[in-house]
Amino acid sequence: MTQTSLDAAALDAADPLAAHRDRFVGAAGPVVYLDGNSLGRPLRSTAARMTAFVEEEWGGRLIRGWDERWFEQPLTLGDRLAEVALGAGPGQTAVGDSTTVLLYKMVRAAVAARPGRREIVVDRDNFPTDRYVVEGVARECGLTVRWLDVDPDGGMTTDDLAAVLGPDTALVVVSHVAYKSGYLADVAALTRLAHDAGAWILVDLCHSTGAVPVALDAWEVDVAVGCTYKYLNGGPGAPAFGYVAARHLADGTFAQPVQGWMGAADSFTMGPSYAPATGIRRLLSGTPPIVGMLGLADMVELVAEAGIEAVRAKSVALTEYAIALVDRDLPDVRLASPRDPAVRGGHVTLAHPRMREVTAVLWERDVIPDFRMPDGLRLGLSPLSTSFAEVAEGVAAIRTALDG
Ligand SMILES: *Cc1c(COP(=O)(O)O)cnc(C)c1O
Repeated sequence: MTQTSLDAAALDAADPLAAHRDRFVGAAGPVVYLDGNSLGRPLRSTAARMTAFVEEEWGGRLIRGWDERWFEQPLTLGDRLAEVALGAGPGQTAVGDSTTVLLYKMVRAAVAARPGRREIVVDRDNFPTDRYVVEGVARECGLTVRWLDVDPDGGMTTDDLAAVLGPDTALVVVSHVAYKSGYLADVAALTRLAHDAGAWILVDLCHSTGAVPVALDAWEVDVAVGCTYKYLNGGPGAPAFGYVAARHLADGTFAQPVQGWMGAADSFTMGPSYAPATGIRRLLSGTPPIVGMLGLADMVELVAEAGIEAVRAKSVALTEYAIALVDRDLPDVRLASPRDPAVRGGHVTLAHPRMREVTAVLWERDVIPDFRMPDGLRLGLSPLSTSFAEVAEGVAAIRTALDG
């Protein structure tokens, strides 16, 4: 996509999704919010939904709520999310737990499904919790972590992965969009490579879901996890989601280690020992966080209404605009994200030795990006709630702070 204008007002006026911004609390200002990839703004409808939930569903239905709706909620919401944003058919996605806990369940299940193989591949630039979980499971199961060094301004390429795959590889763990650089991995190609070597792939979708289209079924991914408080605006601590390919559920290969009653074959038989539920319910452990799913459910419907391809088009336009402004106004700053939008997700990272202090100055001025070690300021441009004017104000504020 080529940007013809650097005029924010013209770009906002021509934005077909601009009207959706009014649906978010605070989007009218004064805060310039450029961290939607860490915590999305709340939708206005979420306040009403939460009140109705307390008064009618929780307060009115009480324990009957479990039979009527909540027991199935992790799976019904998972199916809807899968349809709208994950490119996945029903029966493979469940909402619940944190991303970290789901990563643990998935890594354990994956290595158990590839017995005799001794290595887990993960890149050194992956998100800390992904690396820490892999380290922990490797120690617990007597496996080796095969660390991949990747371009810090990019991410895992097929060449990087091909160089380390082998008959010992049990699992490859990769982020669809790298949290630091914003690099958008070619998951379809990485998955083919992993499968050719007889390994599983676990894809972390935290920084892509809700901003970048995902096609888990078509890519033949084995397992995936993702956050819902970033581009899915579920609110702080909203539960994560997990995806397990139908083929691994149908043949019973997938077995996760936190065996709880809510993932058992019949939760209310209260039987003497655990037998996993058939299907994706087996990913669950204990009582699911129903209250935490309220905001997320609203955002999934908004993404459905806007269409994930249109959301991606706006996301690309926002990041292209940010980069064009940086090229013009911040020549002393290094773009630490891919220049090619085809391999870039929804955020842009700008490197400069003073970015830590610049971020602190911006926060005081109600301009909110975030800082990532060692010298990166991230502009997280949540497509449905961010305007081109905010991007322009943000880049101008960085110029002022660097000059100050
Ligand atoms: C945000 C993020 C997480 C967060 O995990 P939590 O358990 O929700 O704290 C994990 N992985 C990646 C890639 C992330 O971007």
